[in-house]
Amino acid sequence: MIYSNGMLLTQDVAHKLKELSKDVTIDLLISVDGPSPEATERWRKNSNYKTIKDNLTYAIKYMGSQRDVRFTLRGACVLPSDLRNKSLSTIKQYLSTAGNYLRQDFPGANVTVKFAYPDIEVQGTEVMSVECENLSYCRNIFEIIFVEADGGILDCTCSTVYRIIGNVLEEDMYDVWRKSPLLSKSRKMFRGAEIPHMCELCVANPYSSRQKFLIKSIK
Ligand code: SF4
Repeated sequence: MIYSNGMLLTQDVAHKLKELSKDVTIDLLISVDGPSPEATERWRKNSNYKTIKDNLTYAIKYMGSQRDVRFTLRGACVLPSDLRNKSLSTIKQYLSTAGNYLRQDFPGANVTVKFAYPDIEVQGTEVMSVECENLSYCRNIFEIIFVEADGGILDCTCSTVYRIIGNVLEEDMYDVWRKSPLLSKSRKMFRGAEIPHMCELCVANPYSSRQKFLIKSIK
C-alpha cells in the first residue's frame, strides 16, 4: 500500500511501479481533497491540481488495466462556513458532492471522501461537532504502512503524536512495519480494548466514548 499526494507520481515512477506490480499487489492511495481544484490546492500545501490530474490520468491509463494495481483517491474535506449548524444529512450530502466530483475527474479510480481530522491544526479553520449515529472502526495500524517523503516510516499519520519507526531507504519496509515494538504494543492494546496514547485524540479511535463527531470547518 502506497500513500501519495500524486505530485511525484510521474511517468517514470508509474513505469517502475508497473515493473514492481509483477511481483506484488499495489494499492495506491492518493490524497486529493474536494470538492474542487481550489480546495485541494488550498488545503494541501504546495500541491497543484493539474499536475496531480495529469500524473494520475497517465498512471491509471498505463497501469490501470492490471489486476494487481488499485487506485483509490482519499479526500479529506473541510466543511465550508455556510454549512455550519446544518443537519447531519446536509453535511453528508456535501461529502457525497465532493466524492462525485473526484469520481468524475478521475475515472478508473475508487474514491472515498472523509472529513479532515480535527486534531491537526490548520490556519483558518476551527473544530465543530455534529451529532453522529456511530463511530467508524479503525484498522489503520493493521493494514496501512505510512511513509514520509524522506523515507521515514510512521506508526500512524492521523495521530498528532505519531512516531518514526524506521526508514525505507535503510531497512525492509514490511519487516519494520510488521515487527515494530511500538506498533505491536498499540495493536495489542486495541485488541484488548485499550486505547494507545497516540489514538486518544483521534476520531477514528474505535473505543472512543464520544457521542459527537468532530470535524474541521472554515471559520
Ligand atoms: S485511531 Fe487514529 S491514530 Fe489510532 S491508529 Fe487509528 S487512525 Fe491512527
